[in-house]
Amino acid sequence: MTESQYKIFIDSVIRRVEFARVRVSGHHIVKIVAISKYSTTDEIKKLYNIGQRAYGENKVQDLKAKSLELDELPLEWHFVGNLQKNKINNLLDINPSLFQSLDSMELAIELQKKLLTKNMTMDCLLQVNSAKEDTKHGVMPEHAKDIYEKITKECPNIKLKGLMSIGSHSQDTEIIKNSFKITYDIFITLKNATICSMGMSNDFELAIECGSNMVRLGSVMFNK
Ligand SMILES: *Cc1c(COP(=O)(O)O)cnc(C)c1O
Repeated sequence: MTESQYKIFIDSVIRRVEFARVRVSGHHIVKIVAISKYSTTDEIKKLYNIGQRAYGENKVQDLKAKSLELDELPLEWHFVGNLQKNKINNLLDINPSLFQSLDSMELAIELQKKLLTKNMTMDCLLQVNSAKEDTKHGVMPEHAKDIYEKITKECPNIKLKGLMSIGSHSQDTEIIKNSFKITYDIFITLKNATICSMGMSNDFELAIECGSNMVRLGSVMFNK
């Protein structure tokens, strides 16, 4: 694809996001985070050149490599993957603008210790396993509010901004929607939570319809 073809292609993705968000409300703003895990730094540069600033990776080593290689660009990096405790320091070295996948109290406690040692804070989202699938990480929805409040209280260097969730792995629209609704219903009960990150390439319109204000788009943004 040439740059102008890619631009037209990305416009069509943005238009889909726009149609979905305006159906919720003209005031409902949705941010796109381009998930670059299957893409090269050259492909990220191409997308940056047509205006995309926020990117996400799901492996700490890839986040590190790509953010270093693209150091000269004013990009915003998100981490969206499973973080092993022994990789926390690596994540702190990168200091992403948002760690979207904080998925347990245990991890929060470890992260808090390391943040305190380095005198840092980190913006995070609590990941909720709304679909209750074994293959997914995250806290169970029935515990999410308690854990969110506990982290807020006991981990002062962790700045919780809201929730992240992955839609149900299903072909049934109602089942997917239900998993998003579960997350959104928790989100609206939280104090000072501003980000509800839900929706990927195959389900972002449904997620927006259910209240998402941050979509994580991989394949559809990179035309894979
Ligand atoms: C890979 C990934 C995405 C993007 O997936 P696509 O289906 O390619 O849009 C979003 N969120 C997380 C947590 C991911 O790991």
